[in-house]
Amino acid sequence: MEESKFKFFCDRMLGKLAKKLRLLGFDALYYNEIEEEEILRLSKGRILLTRDKILERKAKKQGIEVFYIKSDKWRSQLKAVNDRFSIEKYSKPFTRCSECNGELVDVEKEKVKDKVPEYVYKTIDEFKICKNCGKIYWKGSHISWIVSDIGKLVRAWERD
Ligand SMILES: [Zn+2]
Repeated sequence: MEESKFKFFCDRMLGKLAKKLRLLGFDALYYNEIEEEEILRLSKGRILLTRDKILERKAKKQGIEVFYIKSDKWRSQLKAVNDRFSIEKYSKPFTRCSECNGELVDVEKEKVKDKVPEYVYKTIDEFKICKNCGKIYWKGSHISWIVSDIGKLVRAWERD
């Protein structure tokens, strides 16, 4: 997989944003239980997204690229990230696992037979699997593969 130039680290308050970034194909690390020092260590070479002003200041001191997020709603957060970094044009929906940040690869239909609901197996032909955790994805799950516009994505996820 061709790597996007954007790699993110989402702080403890940005779990939903991390999942959406992954669905868009971005490498986004996130841990709900992690020490601040560890966040700073793992953010090196990434863009740290944070809702914590103190953490923002510490990161800047260490020369880490950091972006402070005001909103506590993921849609506004995603929009803020896009307004700042224009990530939209680099998005590759369904190349990365929303659960673990692992890479998705094609998998033969027969191999997922017992792992997806029957109606899905009957109607869907293309499946992807996470190389890391084994979660299976298909067209129509979460969002359509063809949607690449973040504005449209936000609307598509309205019912989350
Ligand atoms: Zn995974």
